[in-house]
Amino acid sequence: MQTFAHMLHPDRLLPADPETRRVARGIYERTRSLPIISPHGHCSPALFADDGPIGDPAAEIVTRDHYLLRMLYSQGVPMEALGVPPRDGGAAETDGRAIWRTFAQHYHRFRATPSKYWLDHTLAEVFGIDEPLRAETADVVYDQMTARLAEPTFRPRALFDRFGIELLATTDGSVDSLDAHARIRASGWPGRVVPTFRPDDVVNPDRPGFREKLDRLGALTGEDTSSWHGYLAALRARRAAFIEAGATASDHGHPSAVTADLPDTDAAKLYARVRGGDFDPADAELFRGQMLVEMAAMSMDDGLVLQLHAGSWREHNPTVHARFGPDKGADIPTTIDFVGGLKPLLDRFGNETRLTVIVYTLDESTFSRELAPLAGHYPALRLGPPWWFLDSPEAIRRFRQLVTETAGFANTVGFNDDARSLLSIPARHDMVRRLDAGFLAGLVAEHRLDAHEAAEVAEDLAHHLARRAFRVA
Ligand SMILES: [Zn+2]
Repeated sequence: MQTFAHMLHPDRLLPADPETRRVARGIYERTRSLPIISPHGHCSPALFADDGPIGDPAAEIVTRDHYLLRMLYSQGVPMEALGVPPRDGGAAETDGRAIWRTFAQHYHRFRATPSKYWLDHTLAEVFGIDEPLRAETADVVYDQMTARLAEPTFRPRALFDRFGIELLATTDGSVDSLDAHARIRASGWPGRVVPTFRPDDVVNPDRPGFREKLDRLGALTGEDTSSWHGYLAALRARRAAFIEAGATASDHGHPSAVTADLPDTDAAKLYARVRGGDFDPADAELFRGQMLVEMAAMSMDDGLVLQLHAGSWREHNPTVHARFGPDKGADIPTTIDFVGGLKPLLDRFGNETRLTVIVYTLDESTFSRELAPLAGHYPALRLGPPWWFLDSPEAIRRFRQLVTETAGFANTVGFNDDARSLLSIPARHDMVRRLDAGFLAGLVAEHRLDAHEAAEVAEDLAHHLARRAFRVA
């Protein structure tokens, strides 16, 4: 019988050519144990504040993972069978074992996808399970996972230490109380879990509840958010609170890369329109663009690194959205114009060396045509790692090939795992370290880098670049 020991080959993802593989192994050995910097992801800070058991493995690994939901849904598996409750109160599976069985039955659908690659790694390396997951082994694997998750060594803080995480940034809404972060710090636990300021809820007029969030923003800060300047002051106050809680970055999820730098009076009028609910889609787009430039201006003062995640058409499937809500795997990438979109932002701040703007795309056609040339010129701009649909072996290889000649390595910022589950973090960082070792080994084999240079770059990519870009002190 095939075992995981075989499935997790020690040379997995390394180049197939024996000579290049030998070089790649040496490079990978240099980085495999380096600490993990996780500057962008979606683990809940409450996980580390409470440090309670992670709980049911099916809920943790299947139900919350939109990568898994989308693929299974595409193959006709109902969301309800995966534990996703319909909004109308209809029935959904609540038994973790049953959800896990359904998942295991369909696990072969994930062959050659990063989801399977990550989960095989997690099962074998994190849980120590040596049975490959399939319908027949669903119960055995489920029982072993459940037993491990009940052990103290599988508590979040213990895992954080075991995984060698040096810093983990969560993603937090602008009106979040940051209470969990305060509890982490008050607990005396030395693990570094910091918030990231994600103000989409008060910057995107198309978000449901936008007006109420603005009111809450005002109440939370004591500023008058009915006025443009009061609104900006409130945002500045929240940024200060996030920095106080350890944040080094803001993050902005926008449908496009449009930015705008309107005169103050025009911006104030635009704010009055979007706040009053009297706006069209073009106003919403312009307002989001204006707010990116306002955020960059604030970053010039307070030092937060500005991340832009652009180009996701959220909730492309209205039926799934109406029935199950957001983040169920129905978001689809769109084409995006960075060269034109970022122009107003770059005209004003592109030449600043004390500002860092990190741009992420789901449109890989922009890597070589737009983003590498932009990041390879403007001092304020850095190119974020492959994101979401692109944080996979083939796309990460393409990323290095497409951007390195124009942007170099120094205009990139290491890796983001973007993980929903703490359990999957090591698999993702290990994957990219192997891929980078393979890419660098290719350059060594072609005598374009010497072995010493390749090792140095590998350590930069695995650790130092992220530390520097995200201003980890
Ligand atoms: Zn994310």
